[in-house]
Amino acid sequence: MANVLKRLPQNVSGDFYVDASCIDCDTCSQLAPTVFRDHGEQCSVYHQPQTDEETRLALMALVACPTGSIGATEKHDVHIGIDAFPLLIADNVYFCGFTSESSFGGWSYLIVQSHKDGGNVMIDSPRFASQLVKRVAALGGIDRMLLTHRDDVADHELFAGKFGCQRIMHAADGARRLGLERIIEGEEELRLDDNLIAIPTPGHTHGHVVFLYRQKFLFTGDHLAWSPEWETLTAFRSVAWYSWPEQTRSMEKLLNYDFEWVLPGHGDIHHDSVNNMREHLKRCLAWMQKQS
Ligand code: SF4
Repeated sequence: MANVLKRLPQNVSGDFYVDASCIDCDTCSQLAPTVFRDHGEQCSVYHQPQTDEETRLALMALVACPTGSIGATEKHDVHIGIDAFPLLIADNVYFCGFTSESSFGGWSYLIVQSHKDGGNVMIDSPRFASQLVKRVAALGGIDRMLLTHRDDVADHELFAGKFGCQRIMHAADGARRLGLERIIEGEEELRLDDNLIAIPTPGHTHGHVVFLYRQKFLFTGDHLAWSPEWETLTAFRSVAWYSWPEQTRSMEKLLNYDFEWVLPGHGDIHHDSVNNMREHLKRCLAWMQKQS
């Protein structure tokens, strides 16, 4: 729950505000960019919602915020924000909302599909919030949970306990220690089914993996994201905990794959044609190689 007494001075006056507990994950500025912005080390409200749609987006940000740092002084129906999640991105792929502080507000996703196609798949773990759990159950639960890396596992145990899903993660990020059901080894791609491929991408962490769904959706964890500032794909050198040269090599490997969507844990989502995406990836790679 946000505390109005700790309202950040950077907020414009009015109803919605961010308090001092903000950890600067940027979820709010990505979900409601006309209301919230990153003013430096934290986010704040720079424009109070003026329309029903802006209010809806601000309430979604309030629900998705990992630290409960967003508040409102007027009364709102918070179910408007709650019921928006899981939020459809495209086809049968959803953003879960309800981010977790333990994964620093990392975004997680849900693929909804029939059992014939392998059942529902969650990519990285959101917060185990009862409202989200109910809605995921109504969509058919979770059959498999793909974990891109050790930082974004959040409430995986609670989801596995509730839905009995198989959890899949790389050995080098501690999958055995976490007691997971399926463990990826080595650096070769692993086909999980007709539509899903696990591609080990060491760099951010030793056991980082990205997951490609239907040659269209690339779930990139902390390996790759869109930079609105540079208008191309980017990687985060300052958090290449394992190895930047390895992350650069892993990026090169992705040139062998087609995809139209980049769906990261942190940073911005991007959608483009396969060809444009490949050009952006080449640009990102060239930049990374210069940093090495
Ligand atoms: S979603 Fe919450 S923690 Fe993240 S930047 Fe916004 S206010 Fe801060």
